[in-house]
Amino acid sequence: MKIAIVGAGIVGVTTAWELACDGHEVQVFDRRSAAAEASSFANAGVVAPGYVTPWAAPGMQRKVLQSLLSGHGAIKLRWPLAGQHLRWIQQWRRACRLENYLANRARLQRLAFYSRSRLHDIVAQRELAYERSDGYLVLLRDRREQKLVRPGLDVLREAGAVFREIDADEARRLEPALSTHTSLLGAIHLPEDEVGNCRQFALLLKREAEALGVQFFFDSHIAPLSPAEPRSLRLAAGSDAVPYDAVIVCAGVESPALLRPLGLQLPVVPVYGYSITATIREPLNAPRSAIMDERFKVAISRLGLRVRVAGSAELGGDAATQHPAAVQTLYKVLHDWFPGAAQLDSGVQHWKGARPMLPDGPPLIGASGVPGVWLNLGHGSSGWALSCGSARVLADLVAGRAPEIDLEGLGLERFQGR
Ligand SMILES: Cc1cc2nc3c(=O)[nH]c(=O)nc-3n(C[C@H](O)[C@H](O)[C@H](O)COP(=O)(O)OP(=O)(O)OC[C@H]3O[C@@H](n4cnc5c(N)ncnc54)[C@H](O)[C@@H]3O)c2cc1C
Repeated sequence: MKIAIVGAGIVGVTTAWELACDGHEVQVFDRRSAAAEASSFANAGVVAPGYVTPWAAPGMQRKVLQSLLSGHGAIKLRWPLAGQHLRWIQQWRRACRLENYLANRARLQRLAFYSRSRLHDIVAQRELAYERSDGYLVLLRDRREQKLVRPGLDVLREAGAVFREIDADEARRLEPALSTHTSLLGAIHLPEDEVGNCRQFALLLKREAEALGVQFFFDSHIAPLSPAEPRSLRLAAGSDAVPYDAVIVCAGVESPALLRPLGLQLPVVPVYGYSITATIREPLNAPRSAIMDERFKVAISRLGLRVRVAGSAELGGDAATQHPAAVQTLYKVLHDWFPGAAQLDSGVQHWKGARPMLPDGPPLIGASGVPGVWLNLGHGSSGWALSCGSARVLADLVAGRAPEIDLEGLGLERFQGR
């Protein structure tokens, strides 16, 4: 088949690769000038399937309120908040109910574990060398956090994740540069989880896909799909319609705009986060792999010769406005745990990115209801961790094959009639 993909983020690139492996003729279009320039550009890079859980969970409404009231709180509302945000919040609140949370968590984790094994297969098969490290350490500063993570440990156990509760001494043996000036009660260690440079992986896999014949077209802003010819693409600036056998929408936060003319109202909203990335000054003072500060919900990742600090969740506002308090929290947490690790006086990369969030958690993968138009979008806070599995599943569906995992609850049907 001749297939067009809109979006060359991590989801579009992995999808292109899988479709090319199946022998399709694939063309990928992106409005940016290179792959992985939008949400996939500078995320935390964590691949921890047991921690891939919905943000819509029982008790979250109280946590959100507490966070809104706290200076270093991870979650913030920003103006303007539009009608789509208010509708999203309503759906999110419904998804917080226990039975909905449990179902969505199972769906997400099934996909996340599958995705990690697909990632490993691709890396081994293509011998891809990118910045990555093994192990994930969730730091608990005090007893309050230890208590708060308890239900999460049951989740990890049920998911079959390999983990150990360790004391501060052992955590410091695993991450010897952790500052002794910040109090540490203990940690959760997940040795099978990992951190990797999502953008670098996307660029490497793009090259592999090109070797299989995939064509990438950048600076190509695609117009919303037309109900008369949904499988044809046009440039937003105006061009002839180019027909395809199938069109796959992997356009992250911009997917709803592309699909609206087809009558699809998708509740994907951007939930913004920040990262800072700096060169390591002294490797002995830097993290070895990825850590998560459970109190501030900030991840610190080792990416080759650099360290990246990522966190914060803003609903509303816009992509361009950087809120200094959110960035200061990243610097604070880095300083708390790894003072002196990074060169912070110059050359620090500041990034604000958007998580393409659906209100209930799992992404949307599969048919759109319009023949030949397919969806692979809405991967929220875990698009890198979910990308390789989502791509394989989508390619199987396009081929009319049964995917290797159960897709219940990952399709569009869950939003229809709402
Ligand atoms: C602070 C932060 C930390 C994160 N940490 C992690 C983490 O540790 N682990 C993890 O798994 N995930 C993490 N994420 C989430 C992850 O980054 C996203 O889920 C993922 O990047 C989404 O990928 P995507 O391909 O769907 O979207 P994108 O990367 O945004 O790709 C979509 C592409 O579509 C293009 N596009 C859109 N509309 C059009 C159009 N009309 N025409 C042409 N092109 C178009 C865009 O230009 C873009 O390149 C984090 C996110 C943030 C913000």
